[in-house]
Amino acid sequence: MSIWSPGGPPGKRTAPLAEDYRETPLWWDDATFPSVAETALPASADAVVIGAGFTGLAAAARLGSHGKHTLVIDSGGLGEGASGRNAGMIHAGVRRSVATLERKHGAAGRALHDASVEAYRFVARTAAAAAPDAMYTQSGWLHLAHRRSRMKSLRKDEAERRDVLGESTVMLEDAALESEAPCRGFHGGMLTDNGASIHPARYLSGLARLSLSGGVALHLHTRVTSIERRDPGVVVHTSRGDVAAGDVLVATNGYTDDAAPWARRRIIPIGSYIIATEPLGDARAADVSPQRRMMSDSRNFLHYWRLSPDGRLVFGGRTSFAPVSVQTARDRLYAAMIDIYPELSGVRLSHAWTGNVGFTFDQLPHLTRSEGVTYAMGYCGSGVALGSWMGTLAAQWIARGARPAFSDLRFPRMPLYRGHPWFLPLVGVYYSLLDRL
Ligand SMILES: Cc1cc2nc3c(=O)[nH]c(=O)nc-3n(C[C@H](O)[C@H](O)[C@H](O)COP(=O)(O)OP(=O)(O)OC[C@H]3O[C@@H](n4cnc5c(N)ncnc54)[C@H](O)[C@@H]3O)c2cc1C
Repeated sequence: MSIWSPGGPPGKRTAPLAEDYRETPLWWDDATFPSVAETALPASADAVVIGAGFTGLAAAARLGSHGKHTLVIDSGGLGEGASGRNAGMIHAGVRRSVATLERKHGAAGRALHDASVEAYRFVARTAAAAAPDAMYTQSGWLHLAHRRSRMKSLRKDEAERRDVLGESTVMLEDAALESEAPCRGFHGGMLTDNGASIHPARYLSGLARLSLSGGVALHLHTRVTSIERRDPGVVVHTSRGDVAAGDVLVATNGYTDDAAPWARRRIIPIGSYIIATEPLGDARAADVSPQRRMMSDSRNFLHYWRLSPDGRLVFGGRTSFAPVSVQTARDRLYAAMIDIYPELSGVRLSHAWTGNVGFTFDQLPHLTRSEGVTYAMGYCGSGVALGSWMGTLAAQWIARGARPAFSDLRFPRMPLYRGHPWFLPLVGVYYSLLDRL
């Protein structure tokens, strides 16, 4: 095993591929995005939202509902950012416990946690109203301990979820674990009812339709090049002209570029990779995940997996903190999947793809404002719910002045970091060692 990546050297095990194998997200196969005509940018708007993912579109839909003349500008097409590339696994909470958040950040920390719980509920409501075809399903989430030593922290997490947050949780070991997760290599798990699945691209499409029906204008394939502060308002410079706006929301997360240097110094883009098998058939799908749970393990080099609505195993992970090709990541993920489910050996892959996750130095999401520009980002791999809700809160702040209680949490940066995460290979070595303890 290489210390640079947990999956071992590339090419050790080559994944078998279906004839129609492709390196685009599975979700793009059966999502239809609204067609958006390319129109001239107006000279001015009440609000400009940069980024047409969950964050930007949820924000735009809410701004539109407040009667704000709103533009969403994206350098790509709909679904090309992480919102069309993720695994569609949804949970409440952020990467820190409520106790830690309260100890470190007081009431603002608690408010951030509460927002994450509301985010979870918000997706359920929004999907039901705007994207019923996205198949939102409350499926529960099973966190699995890849080392016996990780059971202690899972038990702590379970107690907090049960006692403080009122979730319905249970610790699973031995036979109970076998019946929930008939997979290899785990010492136990924590099951919570707070876990759900969605078809992410159809959900995104629903948010786009909601925005358009509220009068929002989408300008795709249009790159924002810089944001200039004016008093009052801002001017947004783009590849297709300038727009003067009362407010601007930067919702670019793991794709943040030089147009937003303040955010670029605070966001660490990290590649995550996903493979999908051919449909397994009902019997084999039931063997893999009898209750169709969302599942993840306790590694820092996290693996996460679920069944797709048509019974494929969708299996994702970080595979490396240094950039690798989709082919290399695919073979590593396949090897990891077979370690967990040996009976799937030989099953062919239909898809493999990648996307950028937006991490932060404190591993917390941030919704904040600096020099008149509002930023919502840094979901650290949990942006289906957090992005949707942070976007909505950002819109309420812009439209009604409703400032979220956690918005003054410091959004940390690191000296010398300007958006190129040169330190990631070193972090990868450290995490790889930790994963073996
Ligand atoms: C492989 C993978 C798996 C994931 N799995 C999950 C999961 O199971 N559950 C979960 O909750 N989260 C998951 N995530 C994270 C989740 O997808 C993201 O947190 C979420 O989609 C972020 O949404 P967003 O709208 O903030 O950003 P994005 O959807 O990434 O959109 C940002 C947009 O900004 C645009 N942009 C950037 N710069 C500019 C510019 N200068 N001008 C114009 N446009 C610009 C980009 O083109 C992009 O479309 C995963 C992410 C990846 C990559």
